[in-house]
Amino acid sequence: MDMEIDAVQPAQQVEIDQERQGKAKTYERVRRRLSYISMGIGAIGVCLLLFTGLAGWIGDRLHALGWQPVHGWFPLQVMCFFLIVMLVYEIVTAPIGYYGFTLSRRYGMSVMTLKSWLRDLFVGLALELVLGITVLELIYWLLAAQPDTWWLWVGLVLLFFSVIMANLAPVLLFPLFYKFRPMPEGDLTRRLLALANRANTRVRGVYTFDMSRKTTAANAALMGLGNTRRIVLGDTMLDRYTNEEIEVVLAHELGHHVHHDIWKLILSQSLITLGGLYLANLVFHWTVETQHLYAGLADAATIPLLLALTALFGFIVMPLNNGISRYVEYQADHYALQSTGMVEPFKRAMTRMANQNLSDIQPSPLIEFLFYDHPPIGKRLKHADGYMERT
Ligand SMILES: [Zn+2]
Repeated sequence: MDMEIDAVQPAQQVEIDQERQGKAKTYERVRRRLSYISMGIGAIGVCLLLFTGLAGWIGDRLHALGWQPVHGWFPLQVMCFFLIVMLVYEIVTAPIGYYGFTLSRRYGMSVMTLKSWLRDLFVGLALELVLGITVLELIYWLLAAQPDTWWLWVGLVLLFFSVIMANLAPVLLFPLFYKFRPMPEGDLTRRLLALANRANTRVRGVYTFDMSRKTTAANAALMGLGNTRRIVLGDTMLDRYTNEEIEVVLAHELGHHVHHDIWKLILSQSLITLGGLYLANLVFHWTVETQHLYAGLADAATIPLLLALTALFGFIVMPLNNGISRYVEYQADHYALQSTGMVEPFKRAMTRMANQNLSDIQPSPLIEFLFYDHPPIGKRLKHADGYMERT
């Protein structure tokens, strides 16, 4: 593809770009506002459904779909109810999504055309609906069949499901959005091999992907589980970072592998989800058995209640999830510094990333606590300085 590529900046010229920092603060603020608006619309929608009798009215309209493979489980009603709610939400919030797209183009982050953006939007939505319906049918089947222990079974099945998805995602899901290519043998693969040897571990594959078709930002990640485990590196990094800088980034990803972080995140998420399901169980029994608000636990009209509880719980545990993620990321940075000893290249890679990705290096503590799943780059730079002083 024909693309304009900046030459790699000489190492001594890499500094935090203050003008870009100003832009980053505005960009992040506007994007946060957009997500608040979407959340607000979701909250209003759920309140309308719960408190105006709208949920019951939709439930009545779907009464004809009475197929009942298990006593009390009406899979067609559940699916249609969910589709109606989700599609209305998607349509109402579509202008906000579109505004977000034009914003990221204006700030020079997205390089997607409207057509390719729409394509990704629809593929993502289709995936979301298929996965959402699968999980919801599982929940309502178990609500009908095992009204007291459904939450435990759902938690266990979801744990199993996340392990399978983590394994399949790099070969099944991500290729829907990006093309992956094994990184050609060369200096970088040799550096990574040496790092992995020192850590007594094996890296199953290093791939680059065509991030530059969609964005100017750079990223790298560890993904997959078992036989699909791999390190992936955006081509937007390959072009603009020195090999030493990329080596520290690879060492960070290797750190995630050495620390078994994907397993840690799956297990901590599953425990948190199980807690949420148990609370949902209490609320469901209370609304049905004490308040008599619904015909039964598995009544499709309870879907808005389940969605409301899920959203509320997700919002409350978001800082916890982000805190766990920031901790894990801090440890991976530490591993990168320790295993390579390359403090300056680490700082240069971080600095380049802050400039390139328009990330605010010093958000307010509250914003960091609520929304940041990585430590802000200011802290990652300080971590490297502290590491240098101690060694
Ligand atoms: Zn990481």
